[in-house]
Amino acid sequence: MKTMATAMVLAAGCAVCGCVALGAAAERKTVVVWSEGTAPKNLYPADINGAIAEGLRASDALKGWEVVTANLSDPEQGLPDDVLARADVLVWWGHKKHGEVKDALVDKIEKRVKEEGMGFIALHSAHFAKPNKRLMGTPCTFAAYVSDTTETMVKVAMPDHPIAKGVKAEFTVANDERYSDPYAVPPTDEVPFTGVQVHKNGTREPAKMGFCWKVGKARFFYFQLGHETNPIYFDPEIRKIMANAVLWAAGTP
Ligand code: ZN
Repeated sequence: MKTMATAMVLAAGCAVCGCVALGAAAERKTVVVWSEGTAPKNLYPADINGAIAEGLRASDALKGWEVVTANLSDPEQGLPDDVLARADVLVWWGHKKHGEVKDALVDKIEKRVKEEGMGFIALHSAHFAKPNKRLMGTPCTFAAYVSDTTETMVKVAMPDHPIAKGVKAEFTVANDERYSDPYAVPPTDEVPFTGVQVHKNGTREPAKMGFCWKVGKARFFYFQLGHETNPIYFDPEIRKIMANAVLWAAGTP
């Protein structure tokens, strides 16, 4: 009884002095959403990372998370050591400026992912981003890149997968640009999203849309959609996928 009374006093004291609040703050998870700043301003006024971050901040699934945007034009290319160190997940969108990303930064990202378990999410044209290629260790090419499509139907291929939680079984987004299978990446059976790319001439082309891997100690997700002329990161289903992917990549089952 004496021990329990002492414990209760200690617990009450802790709450009063703020230790409990400090503990909660220390456990706060962080996602950093990076992009290179080249998306059309009329479609993405706050660039692609701004749109993704807006969706993550509005997500009930990520309540309590810190959502940070980082840009190529920011000091240290948006990822100073302290930001990279506290990121549980790094989301990456790039297209035209892959070559500007410093190799020293890619080295640090690789270490955070493989050795320290920071989750990584690569989007669309980030297939050729330096961190994506480094972490995959393969050419990361697609069989074709053609601007001959009108829309893509996304299908949930693994309904029980955490990244598919609450996502409609099928939904369609506008898409001017298809990437055709196969994607030259390490083989994986964990493909929670597939889809059908609808060509202007009516051809319906099946393709894989979302891939998962374990890379070193970390979880890695690639999502094929996200061309900059189709502002899909405002779409509610895509936003669910992004929020789920961040949770999954952080190691949450
Ligand atoms: Zn594109």
